[in-house]
Amino acid sequence: ATVAQLADWNGTGETSDGHRVKVYGNVGSPADAQAAADAGAEGVGLFRTEFCYLDASDEPSVAEQRAAYTAVLSPFRGKPVIVRTLDAGADKPLAFLSPEAEPNPALGVRGLRVAFDRPEVLDRQLEAIAGAAQDSGAEVSVMAPMVATVEEAAWFAERVRAAGIARAGVMIEIPAAALSAREILDVVDFVSVGTNDLAQYTFAADRQLGAVAKLNDPWQPGLLRLLKLIGDAAKATGKPAGVCGEAAADPRLALVLTGLGLTSLSMNAPAVRSVGASLASATLAECESLAEAALATSDPAAARAAARP
Ligand code: PEP
Ligand code: MG
Repeated sequence: ATVAQLADWNGTGETSDGHRVKVYGNVGSPADAQAAADAGAEGVGLFRTEFCYLDASDEPSVAEQRAAYTAVLSPFRGKPVIVRTLDAGADKPLAFLSPEAEPNPALGVRGLRVAFDRPEVLDRQLEAIAGAAQDSGAEVSVMAPMVATVEEAAWFAERVRAAGIARAGVMIEIPAAALSAREILDVVDFVSVGTNDLAQYTFAADRQLGAVAKLNDPWQPGLLRLLKLIGDAAKATGKPAGVCGEAAADPRLALVLTGLGLTSLSMNAPAVRSVGASLASATLAECESLAEAALATSDPAAARAAARP
């Protein structure tokens, strides 16, 4: 987008012909949340709660968690926010949750998997989130990280509803979940795609390893084809499917994601305005043609070239 377009963004995520694609912020602290609000984010698409506890040696109490979450959510009173339950393990170990050394931590007991053995930790977090929803006045939804199957999604949604939280969703960041997006959307209220992990697991390429970074390119046609399945599932069910991985921060890819049927994009604060302005520069039909052209290619460079205006 040009500088003039950036200045012109009116703060509502939509294509030039009025198709809504909400532009949200990714946050992990009160400072991030303030930055996202100042940048014009319409809400929060990913609150990484584990960022509050990277240095904690013991599980924080419900009251401590409630206060910490309220501090992050307060700039979004009356706005939609998606709080992610603790995504401990692999690149983000938490001292009070992460298992003993595993041979392959990225494939081990991480994310929601931790909660199957220790559901009481999840239930305490949900209680704290429900309290923070009241205290902050934000419209809170909750989602789980690292969900692989429909059964796991249904298990999580039931616990969220039992905690009195109205909206339960899951992240799609494991290829098996992308392949079952339709069936998962039947048991939850929304999904959100974590393209960082979805790329890592799709290409079997460690997201922290520079030597394989080329594979983890969000323009890889193989990844775009999985994203299409998720967009199709959103259209078929009428339920929201967002993207909250790094891919959502690329203004041109934002048009492709819109064309694939994704319904919200969540990113770090500095990218909010350029993505909002990019969306306003194209019609939905143009986004759909860009998506079709990118999907028909065989490598990321060709996909990028195909999605040029
Ligand atoms: C992702 O995997 O894309 C994601 C948004 O979650 P995180 O980066 O916290 O793993
Ligand atoms: Mg992830």
